[in-house]
Amino acid sequence: MTLLSVENLSRSYGKLRALDGVVLTVDEGARHALIGCNGAGKTTLLHLLAGTIRASGGRIHYRGKNITRLNPARRARLGIARSFQTPAVFDSLTAFDNLTVAATPHLAGAPWRLASRAAQARDRAEEQIELLGIADCAPRLAGELSHGQRRLVEIGMALVSRPRLLLLDEPAAGLTDTDMERLLEALRQLPTELAVVLVEHHQDLVTEIADTVTVLHEGQILAEGSPEEIAADPQVAEAYLGTG
Ligand code: ATP
Repeated sequence: MTLLSVENLSRSYGKLRALDGVVLTVDEGARHALIGCNGAGKTTLLHLLAGTIRASGGRIHYRGKNITRLNPARRARLGIARSFQTPAVFDSLTAFDNLTVAATPHLAGAPWRLASRAAQARDRAEEQIELLGIADCAPRLAGELSHGQRRLVEIGMALVSRPRLLLLDEPAAGLTDTDMERLLEALRQLPTELAVVLVEHHQDLVTEIADTVTVLHEGQILAEGSPEEIAADPQVAEAYLGTG
């Protein structure tokens, strides 16, 4: 079933058309990668989906609702969560506390029922710590964690809201091989009903995780298909890899 559909989406910065008439469909539970060379418009598209920037033209429908004009907070409440290129965690809190803080706005029940909300937040934090395999990080200050561990904590912070759509901006950027293994393992454990749209340069991660790949080139869609189809596409090789 379609979760997200993007029609003719465009975004300009002054005279520069960063995104130009993009059409995209993401099904429930999909693993959808956006690839393309620097400046292709991938991050712009992710920002447009998260609502952190406004479209210059086109529409975004999510679960049948037009969300094009909704702000990021409203989209988050509808189940759209995101991570950033640089992990956005609170350094002076433990990884566990980062997760409980991130869970708090998404809890059920009246705000004054503090004990019940604290227990719910802890449950959600524990759920993600187990899912992402980061029990070793939980009691440590986020500021003392490695870049890769912080990235996993940040993904956990997005997941505590129990989203339906997770947007990941270059999750593998700057990771060591060990951290990369941990990230891959964590991504494999994500709930099957959760749809993931990820911007990624790391070819192995894309091949391992994605079921659909969209190639952006100069703000437009150049190709779309399975990772195998994309790897075999001569047009993609020419534009993206500089071979052909
Ligand atoms: P990268 O892989 O380098 O992150 P990208 O595919 O994510 O690249 P975008 O960051 O979406 O590309 O940028 C698309 C185009 O829009 C680029 O030419 C970029 O310079 C331009 N651009 C992005 N953000 C802004 C901005 N805030 N102001 C002006 N131009 C911008």
